[in-house]
Amino acid sequence: MKPDSPILLQQYRALLELLPEQHPEYPSIINHFRRQEAGQAGEDNLAYYLNQAQVPSLTCIKRLRLEHHSAFQLDWLVLGLGFRVIFEVKSHTGEIYFDAKSHQLTRIIDGIKEGFDDPLLQVDRQYANLRSYFTAHNIDQLPTYRFAVFVNPNAILRLHDYPEYQRVLTSQRVPAILENLAEKHPPVISKEANQQIEQFLVENHRERAISILEKHAILWDDLHKGLPCPTCNKRSMRRERMRWQCPFCRTRSTDAHEKLLYKIALLSNNRVTKQLAQNMMQMSSSEATRKLIVRAGYIKYGVKKGAYYSHPDILAVTKNRSGHKTWKSGHKSIKSGHKT
Ligand SMILES: [Zn+2]
Repeated sequence: MKPDSPILLQQYRALLELLPEQHPEYPSIINHFRRQEAGQAGEDNLAYYLNQAQVPSLTCIKRLRLEHHSAFQLDWLVLGLGFRVIFEVKSHTGEIYFDAKSHQLTRIIDGIKEGFDDPLLQVDRQYANLRSYFTAHNIDQLPTYRFAVFVNPNAILRLHDYPEYQRVLTSQRVPAILENLAEKHPPVISKEANQQIEQFLVENHRERAISILEKHAILWDDLHKGLPCPTCNKRSMRRERMRWQCPFCRTRSTDAHEKLLYKIALLSNNRVTKQLAQNMMQMSSSEATRKLIVRAGYIKYGVKKGAYYSHPDILAVTKNRSGHKTWKSGHKSIKSGHKT
């Protein structure tokens, strides 16, 4: 299944929680995290307007990432029975206008002018990829419209000079656009066929994960060690009589380690070794560490010094696809049913 919350966002959140604020990379990690978070919030925001459209049998897929030669991601793909739509979601705020000289979209915020990639070129490129993906998988082509949607209510669009200004929208216009398209394109495929296409696409979604520590040149030694207390958030809880106990507020927990183990899985390309977990959880016994990992449902791979444990939710698809080992490059995809 496609995770509700992107793995990449989960990775940045996990790193942010474990990285001390004084670390030189901290500001950059916070920026990456916020960008991911804003992207997700923007995609979620459009869901409301898609639901408002009075069109029967419309199927909407959020954040679909497919691989065909190379990977491409569609923020929203709308599958109608007679037409399809790709929406590229933009969360920018400020005044947005088209600079005819530079052929670039520009925004002005607090008097600062800044250019960004033409979202219509982006969405047209995605369409080219989707079209060849459909051809490769024998999926019927339907007329497919492409729009860029500015979802932030604080964005002011001034695009009269833009040659294709009709394809750049605010989210409020989305329901009417879909209703007009439905009127123009009566059904040509069945509801069942459309559902099959949706199912096929969702099954072939390829989640993206990165070797996040390597990418940002952060070492495990740089990270906070020990379990934070779920009540007072101070580090570290102590392992006493098969339980975790907070020395500050006396909170007790039997499963406080599970969150930290999952973060280690996210940051280690899903390769949690006994030594790594023992060090991160500040456990004195390596055998007790092993038991905690196994009881938390992790699956063991390899033997002796090469042994490591993987969280099954993150593993599920990497195994089917190309074998777990390939994920180490950091650019292969994973897929997870983990919900945050
Ligand atoms: Zn506490």
